[in-house]
Amino acid sequence: MPQAQSPETVSRRMAAVPSRDTGPERVVRALVHSLGRRFRVRNRDLPGSPDIANRSARWAIFVHGCFWHHHVGCPRASRPKSNRHYWREKFQRNRRRDASALRSLSSQGFNVLVLWQCELESEQETVKRLRSFFSRMRFVRSRPE
Ligand SMILES: [Zn+2]
Repeated sequence: MPQAQSPETVSRRMAAVPSRDTGPERVVRALVHSLGRRFRVRNRDLPGSPDIANRSARWAIFVHGCFWHHHVGCPRASRPKSNRHYWREKFQRNRRRDASALRSLSSQGFNVLVLWQCELESEQETVKRLRSFFSRMRFVRSRPE
C-alpha cells in the first residue's frame, strides 16, 4: 500500500510539471498560426490569462489541462485518492475562476474558445474546431492593441 501523500507534496509534484509551454498548448499555437491568425501568448492582463489571444480582433483561446481545470466526466480529471476534501475545494475554485474569466471576457466582447487537453488528440479535429471558431466569430471593428 503506497503511503498517502499530503496535499503539499502532491502540489509540489504537480508544480514541477510546467503549466505553460506544454505540448498541447504548443500544438494549438502552431495550428492557429498555420490558419494565418496572429496572436499573443500568456495574456496575463486579460481575465483568466488566455493561452492565446488577439485583443484587437477580440478573440481568446484557452487550452485547459483536464486535471487542473477538472474537465467534468473526463478520465484525466480523476481526483487524487488522498485528501479528497482539499482537492474537491481546489478543483471547485479552479472551475469557478475559469467560469468567471469566461464571463468577463465575453462581457468585454471577446469570442472565447476552450480546448480541453483530451480533445486535442486528433490534429484534424482541432483544426476543424479552430476554423469553425474563427468563421463563426462575430464581426468586431478592429482597434489598436
Ligand atoms: Zn478532458
